[in-house]
Amino acid sequence: MSGRTAVLGGGISGLSAAYYLRDNPAFRAIKIIEASNRTGGWLRSRVSLEGVIFEEGPRTIRPRGPAGSNTLSLVDRLNLSEKIIPISLAHPVAKNRMIYADKKLHALPNSLNAMFKVNSPFSRPLVSCLITDLRAPKLTKEDESLYSFVERRLGKDVADYLISPMVCGICAGDAKQISVNFLMKSLFEYEQKYGSIIKGFVKSNWEVFRSKSNKTDGQKLNSNDTNRLSRRAENERWAIWTLRGGLEQLPTALADNLSSNGVEISLNSKCEELTFTEGGVELKFNERTEEYSRVISSLSAKSLAPMIHRQHPQLANELTAIPSVTVAVVNLEFAGNVLEQEAFGFLVPPNEKLPILGVIFDSCILPPKNSTVLTVMMGGAWFTKNFGDHPTKEHLLEVAMHHVKSILHIKADLVAHNVAILKDCIPQYVVGHEQRIRRIENYLVKHKLPLFLCGSSYYGVGLNDVVLSAKQAALAVTQQC
Ligand SMILES: Cc1cc2nc3c(=O)[nH]c(=O)nc-3n(C[C@H](O)[C@H](O)[C@H](O)COP(=O)(O)OP(=O)(O)OC[C@H]3O[C@@H](n4cnc5c(N)ncnc54)[C@H](O)[C@@H]3O)c2cc1C
Repeated sequence: MSGRTAVLGGGISGLSAAYYLRDNPAFRAIKIIEASNRTGGWLRSRVSLEGVIFEEGPRTIRPRGPAGSNTLSLVDRLNLSEKIIPISLAHPVAKNRMIYADKKLHALPNSLNAMFKVNSPFSRPLVSCLITDLRAPKLTKEDESLYSFVERRLGKDVADYLISPMVCGICAGDAKQISVNFLMKSLFEYEQKYGSIIKGFVKSNWEVFRSKSNKTDGQKLNSNDTNRLSRRAENERWAIWTLRGGLEQLPTALADNLSSNGVEISLNSKCEELTFTEGGVELKFNERTEEYSRVISSLSAKSLAPMIHRQHPQLANELTAIPSVTVAVVNLEFAGNVLEQEAFGFLVPPNEKLPILGVIFDSCILPPKNSTVLTVMMGGAWFTKNFGDHPTKEHLLEVAMHHVKSILHIKADLVAHNVAILKDCIPQYVVGHEQRIRRIENYLVKHKLPLFLCGSSYYGVGLNDVVLSAKQAALAVTQQC
């Protein structure tokens, strides 16, 4: 008997989990439980008084890989294809990425030729990292920080000026704490298996070439998708894409689709506690309880932990150990075109000790009329250190304006702005994350809990990752129940 399913959280992963589960006629009794007064979670596209889109959360999505292709398939199924704005690999936004170091902006190498030249702030051609890697001794480890792996195998300058800012850009995190498996799992495995990244790359690609029929789980999961859009993305060589009118349209379309197909979405419903019973699970709210056969949680591990602590303290402790960071997002609109160069934006390496993580040049992605839109990301792993526990929005705006104006030499007037403090918005996959996830999975199996996990705390922090994790959670429900 399938019974009723509760989905905790109405962000993109909770909505996606309900969407995929609803595909199975045996599991159509679904209720999404959302604490806030809206769906979408971190996806929020604000429209300024002048009609410009200020993205508070994600703004661009990668089309590639099984997870990228899966999201495109979802976009197609929701009839949002017409709204896609693709950015091709040849576009300046895809080619030009910068870092700010030693008081100036530096373009990151974006061609094979550039790898053979000395590009400041690097002190040697990037291609020489390959020699560093071939000479570095192999160290046998279960896990280590991204910074330490890259410093050991490719050199300190690559760790400081390439990987550390990249980690700031992807998860607002500190590369010295984030696990190597977060970004460089296969490179780490190459070292463990073959002794160096280069040797591993050559040998494993040779093996893949010989057994081309091998597919990853993700590819198998995705192989039934129509993927018209994903083929288009490949043919047109998209680097990233976004939606005209803002990415929030994706959760909005999902929520509309679910509501019109009988899925109940309960807003302003903060679930306080989960109690697992013989027949399923009891959800406790402020003044009521509801019973379900199972629950899919799309909440962050940190939010879920206290809800199960009374009954399952060991599991709660594992979930609590997945930290998350707070990010301040400051969207700015300036009159006229104030940028000297079209680019995705720039990142600031942590060793520069500036209170900003990076700046995205939104108007290069989606040009508005006669103005420039920028987004400044601040805080992350250094939020409290830089801003204390309760900074005001005025202070954050002041800091963002000061640095943006001085780095980009902006003299133009500010036309509009938006400041948001996104508390605990990005989980951090610190050293030992994968091992912790295995322990969590084993615990759920061993105790036969009707609890299925998806969202950004477990299998990837990007939008594609969380949508795929939702699909996998829905599949697990149909296979196990
Ligand atoms: C600033 C920022 C920029 C980003 N940029 C990008 C990008 O450019 N590209 C990209 O791919 N990804 C990006 N990401 C990541 C992406 O936004 C996330 O992976 C995704 O939004 C996570 O969605 P989710 O549904 O898993 O979680 P959430 O959006 O956190 O949704 C969880 C929901 O659960 C609700 N909830 C919490 N507690 C309870 C409770 N007790 N009861 C009921 N409901 C509850 C919350 O209100 C929320 O709506 C970015 C993230 C941030 C924060």
